[in-house]
Amino acid sequence: MSWVEQATDFVKAGFTLEVAKERLLLWAERLDFAETKEASLKEERDTLKANLGKLAPRTAKLEAENAELKAAKETRDAFTEHRGALFRRKPDGGWHPVAYCPKCLVSCARDGAGHLPLVCSIKACGWRTSFSEQNLETVLAELGK
Ligand SMILES: [Zn+2]
Repeated sequence: MSWVEQATDFVKAGFTLEVAKERLLLWAERLDFAETKEASLKEERDTLKANLGKLAPRTAKLEAENAELKAAKETRDAFTEHRGALFRRKPDGGWHPVAYCPKCLVSCARDGAGHLPLVCSIKACGWRTSFSEQNLETVLAELGK
């Protein structure tokens, strides 16, 4: 029952002055409680708005990182790992005759001698295959068709 309906009932019932004072005090307490509650809720709303403002840039940053990780995973999924090196399948079957560095995802360079491991093309990386260049065909055969 709204306070207007209560007031109407109050007038219709012809309450005494004493009852009217009690009712008014009760309504005043309710109003005071409601105002306190409203102030508390406004404060909570303002805190939540402030937190939301702080979270927006963080959310954007996390979404960007997530997109990067997805792209990196898709790139990584294009490779097959074997003997520690990565290999890429040709669209028409078979394998590209290249070993890729598992850290940098770039091809490994041949040293020309054939009996040494292949080395990551990025000099600063220094990663080496566990097999020599002359064994690359054998390693590719191990991967199957
Ligand atoms: Zn590397």
